[in-house]
Amino acid sequence: MTKDLAKWAKEKGVRYFMISYTDLFGSQRAKLVPTQAIADMSVEGAGFAGFATWLDLTPAHPDLMAVPDPDSVIQLPWKKEVAWVAARATMEEKRVEQAPRNVLERLVGEAAKEGLRVKTGVEPEFFLLNAEGTGVSDIYDTAEKPCYDQQAIMRRYDVISEICDYMLELGWEAYQNDHEDATGQFEMNWKYDDALATADKHSFFKFMVKSVAEKHGFRATFMPKPFKGLTGSGCHAHISVWSLDGKQNVFADKSKELGLSDQGRTFLGGIMKHASALAAITNPTVNSYKRINAPRTTSGATWAPNTVTWTGNNRTHMVRVPGPGRFELRLPDGAANPYLLQAVIIAAGLDGVRSKADPGKRHDIDMYAEGYKVKGAPKLPLNLLDALRDYDKDKTLKAMMGEEFSSAFLKLKHKEWTDYCSHFSRWETETTLDI
Ligand code: GLU
Ligand code: MG
Ligand code: MG
Repeated sequence: MTKDLAKWAKEKGVRYFMISYTDLFGSQRAKLVPTQAIADMSVEGAGFAGFATWLDLTPAHPDLMAVPDPDSVIQLPWKKEVAWVAARATMEEKRVEQAPRNVLERLVGEAAKEGLRVKTGVEPEFFLLNAEGTGVSDIYDTAEKPCYDQQAIMRRYDVISEICDYMLELGWEAYQNDHEDATGQFEMNWKYDDALATADKHSFFKFMVKSVAEKHGFRATFMPKPFKGLTGSGCHAHISVWSLDGKQNVFADKSKELGLSDQGRTFLGGIMKHASALAAITNPTVNSYKRINAPRTTSGATWAPNTVTWTGNNRTHMVRVPGPGRFELRLPDGAANPYLLQAVIIAAGLDGVRSKADPGKRHDIDMYAEGYKVKGAPKLPLNLLDALRDYDKDKTLKAMMGEEFSSAFLKLKHKEWTDYCSHFSRWETETTLDI
């Protein structure tokens, strides 16, 4: 049942609402609204100058009205008098088609029309840095193979356990935390859910991690590749599809290859078919391509894919099928917009199901060491520009994500690329000055 936010606030002792929407670059934009005003705002929405955020609007556009979705409301566990609520972006009572959460809501609806309910879990990785953001926060965290480092995770116990406790309190069924494979890097996991619920939780998680880190005098970053020679931050997505009533995992069929049903296989086929285009969404920054195209790190592996290949329980490919009834997409990174990530998975997968796409042969080899043996394995884009070009060429995916969204996204991201190209790095000077 949809919550009455004013009534709910009274019961919970909430004094302020943070009415929040996420723009195309993944930034969360909010207005802090006193509870006294929430009843009106729930109908009218909170007003924003859309041009001031990344949505490809102009200063002449009318107000963007962010209308709270009461089902998404979360009381901040670290500041109980404030509640965060995700909003639907509208303009003159019409949906702003390019707004990421609207894109996802529409695609969830498209999938439902075909009887499909996509459930996903995300695995965001992040670094805890010093307050200035110049290096990892823990000077003792220097092991060559730092993954699962027991000593190092305990040095950050106060931060990690505080965030995990909050997730438990919110009923997210958090179940594990680890020190990841780069010094200063961590991962925290909670239970999978419907795609929209996961996207809201994922957004809130980023906000929560940054807030708790700051409270402890650190800075958290989800940047895909913050340091040369260290593993980057991925955001793997585990995908399964269920019947509309949520009772049956329609991806599971023990009699089929790796326990993936025919439908699961075609959904996967769609992800493979659209991979180089969807990378523009799952890996949306210049820096993203430094993660997937990086040479092996000092500890021996980056754990990030660079080919469009799939396999069983093996972490060196773009897709891993760790067990029956689901698969893991290892391509997305920490910069992926939580809503667009889910949206593009549904768009590509749905097209796969509709077109009965075949994912092709799986390769059970170490792709890092023996990848050369797979003749013709498509490579993932080398940089953001190639990914944007591949996205632009993929007419089906572009249409499914929505023409307004696609043209706004391509326009802003091409600008970002051009801006990047006008910058010079120390590396360029070092390697070119004396030529
Ligand atoms: N950090 C790795 C990446 O960039 C993933 C490590 C893991 O398998 O959890 O994708
Ligand atoms: Mg990980
Ligand atoms: Mg994983």
